[in-house]
Amino acid sequence: MDGKIIVISGPSGAGKTSICNALLEQLPNTIWSVSATTRPPRSGETDGVSYRFLSSGEFEAIEAAGEFAESAEYVGHKYGTPRKPLEEAIAVGKNVVVEIDVQGGMQIASALPESVRIFVMPPNETSLRARLEGRKTEAKEVLNERLAQADGEIAIARDSGCYDHFVVNDVLEKTIEDVKRIVQENTRA
Ligand code: 5GP
Repeated sequence: MDGKIIVISGPSGAGKTSICNALLEQLPNTIWSVSATTRPPRSGETDGVSYRFLSSGEFEAIEAAGEFAESAEYVGHKYGTPRKPLEEAIAVGKNVVVEIDVQGGMQIASALPESVRIFVMPPNETSLRARLEGRKTEAKEVLNERLAQADGEIAIARDSGCYDHFVVNDVLEKTIEDVKRIVQENTRA
């Protein structure tokens, strides 16, 4: 039996990466999809682990060859999910966690409707700002652009009907348990 794609989306700072890391640690047979991006690496990010960091030209060549399962532009940079590793993992029964924005989530929903799609919401805007400021990964201008994007993303996620599950990340440990339960109920994990 094929594995499943588990899409995790949500505004920047909602806690997606912590949730994904917990899923990968705690669920058997579950792997991470390494996205490609034209965004520069943050300190602590390793090429080929967090992302494949590409130039715009490299990204466009892969995109033109149809080698992304989905791709999107987010706050001035391109992001895409390489198709081949995803298909290979699913074919051998692995579940693949794909952390992508709502534009990508919509593309996966229509191309691979059997995927499980979860949208992580921040409890409120104040906590979203506090988390983004606290992690100190973005310059102020970029941080404000990401916050401005958040409302739009939440509205699209709701209106598109592409997400089967919405979880509010108030207490991280509880959110992880909620997301794990959703994944277990919808896959063989
Ligand atoms: P960040 O720059 O904070 O790592 O990611 C910015 C946004 O891009 C986040 O919403 C993240 O989920 C999304 N993202 C990361 N990889 C991909 C991808 O491969 N495709 C799409 N569509 N979005 C991605």
